[in-house]
Amino acid sequence: MSSDVMIEASALTKRYGSLRALDKVSFEVHRGEVVGFLGPNGAGKSTTMRILTCFISASAGTAKVHGFDVFDDPLEVRKRIGYLPQRAPLYQDMSVWEYLQFVADMRGLDESTFKKRMKGIVDVCGLAQVLGKNIGALSHGYRQRVGLGQALVHNPPILILDEPTADLDPNEKAEVIKYIKEIGKERTVLLSTHNLSEVETACARAIIVSKGRVVADGPLDDIRAKSDKVRYVVMVHEQKAFEAGRKAPTAQEVQEALGKLPGVGNVTETPTDDNAHRFQFMGPSGSDIRPELFGLIVQKGWLLLEMRRDSQTLEDVFKVLTKGDERKDRGRKYEPDEDDDDDDDASAALGSAGAAGAAAADDDDDDDDEEGDDADDEEEDGDDEGDEEDADDEAKDEPKKKG
Ligand code: ADP
Repeated sequence: MSSDVMIEASALTKRYGSLRALDKVSFEVHRGEVVGFLGPNGAGKSTTMRILTCFISASAGTAKVHGFDVFDDPLEVRKRIGYLPQRAPLYQDMSVWEYLQFVADMRGLDESTFKKRMKGIVDVCGLAQVLGKNIGALSHGYRQRVGLGQALVHNPPILILDEPTADLDPNEKAEVIKYIKEIGKERTVLLSTHNLSEVETACARAIIVSKGRVVADGPLDDIRAKSDKVRYVVMVHEQKAFEAGRKAPTAQEVQEALGKLPGVGNVTETPTDDNAHRFQFMGPSGSDIRPELFGLIVQKGWLLLEMRRDSQTLEDVFKVLTKGDERKDRGRKYEPDEDDDDDDDASAALGSAGAAGAAAADDDDDDDDEEGDDADDEEEDGDDEGDEEDADDEAKDEPKKKG
C-alpha cells in the first residue's frame, strides 16, 4: 500500500444473520481527499465506517487505516482517526470546554497541548461563542460542531464523519458543511451522507454504495457522466402560434410530435404556471437533437417559450445507481466464494464509464428471499455501546476471514 493511501477497504463483508450489510466493499481514500460516502438509508455506510473505526469487526475482508489493520492494530488506527458518529457522544451537563478537556484526557493529552490545540479547534469549528455553555443548552447544529471538535482533539490526519448533518435544519447543515470543508483542507475526510448537495459542496470525489456494494467511485464529474442519457425540456405556448393565422397546438399534438423525434423515449407533460404545454423527455447523450427539435417547432409554427438540454445531475445518477435500495430487506444466504460476475446491471444501465461500476449493484437481488426479516429483528438503534457489544459477540461467533 502506498503511504499516500490513508484508508483502504478491501472486499469488506459484514453479515448480520442472513443479511449481508456489506458485500465485498473495496475502495481507497488518499491523503488530502474529502470523499463523499453516499447511499440511501440502509446501504451500508455506517457499517463500513464502524468497521474502519474499530467499533465492529468485518465478517470477511480487510481494512487498513494509514497502513494499520483495523483488526490487528486497533489502537494505532484509533490514534489516527477522528470519528463523529451519527449522534455525537456528548455529555449534556458538561460545558463545551469541560467536555473537550475530558476527551483530551481520555486521549492522553497534557494540559498545555490541549490548550494549544483548542485554539485551532475553536476556530475551525466555530465554537468561540459557546465554550462556557452547557452542551444540553446548545442547538443541534452547535452540538454537531462540538462533535467535530471532539473528533479533532488528538489532531488525527483522518476524519470519519457519519451523516453529521442528518438531524440539522438547512441553515445548520450549511454551517456544519462549511466547517467540514475547512477541516478538509488539512486532513483526509470520509463523509457519509445521503444529501447530494452536501457532497457537491464539500467533496471532489464520491463513493456511492447501494445494497451493501460500491456502485460508483470517482470524481463527481465522472459519476455524473456515467449516465448515457440527457434530459430535454420543451415548452410551447398553448394559446398562440408563432405565425398569425396558424393554430396553437394541443398538448397531445405536441407530445406525439416530440415522441417521433429520433432517439426520444417517453415524453411526459410537466406542470407549469405559464399558458403553455411543457414536456420533458430523455434523449441519447451521444447526440444533440436540439436542431431537429427547433426544426420541428418552426415547421409546425409553434411559439417556443423554452428549450433546454440538461446533463444528468448527480441526483439523477444516484437514483439510477441505487434503484431498488428502498427495500430494506435484502437478506440472503452468505456464500463467501460466490461469483460476482452477475453484478453489473446498474452499470450497464449507465454505460461503461466510471471506475467502480464494476462492482455495481445487481437487480438480481430481486430473487432474494425474505430471510432479511431476521436481520431486521436483530437491528439495533445507532447506540454505539450496543454496537460494540454486538461486535464483540460477533467477533466471537464470526472470526474474521482475511481477504
Ligand atoms: P446506512 O448507514 O447506509 O444507512 P447501515 O450500515 O446502518 O446503513 O445498515 C446496513 C444494513 O445493515 C441495513 O439493512 C441495516 O438494517 C443492517 N444493520 C445495521 N446494523 C445492524 C445490526 N446491529 N443488526 C442487524 N442489522 C443491522
